[in-house]
Amino acid sequence: MTDSTDRPVWPAVWNGWRRTCPRCGEGALMVKYLKTRDHCDACGQAFHHHRADDGPPYLTLLIVGHVVGPAMLWYYVAREPSPWEFMAIFGIGSVLMSLWFLPRLKGALVGVQWANRMHGFGHETDPPAWPDRAPAAE
Ligand SMILES: [Zn+2]
Repeated sequence: MTDSTDRPVWPAVWNGWRRTCPRCGEGALMVKYLKTRDHCDACGQAFHHHRADDGPPYLTLLIVGHVVGPAMLWYYVAREPSPWEFMAIFGIGSVLMSLWFLPRLKGALVGVQWANRMHGFGHETDPPAWPDRAPAAE
């Protein structure tokens, strides 16, 4: 059995969204644009357990598609733009929105997995690299 009170989901999701460690919120979660670190530099929490896989791109497409789709319809009816104007605005806008959402949604998904002890995040046999720097239990 797992105890859900010691790993609240929403603070972990928020920390992941900010691309920080879902456990302590201080160490960086990402080492590059989308690559997660092996462990947190602040508390030692291992991140290699995460299995975000296709989740972040799926959620990115879901959000960006639901924003851009109606915006395209509205803009076309309101302005009747030229094809080049239309492609420039919505092509570049879609790419920029996707690039902004993708790492944040990946971090949030890693936060969900950490809070729910998914994919090895709950193994008690995997101690933090620096137990003395682990955040105090609340
Ligand atoms: Zn940490």
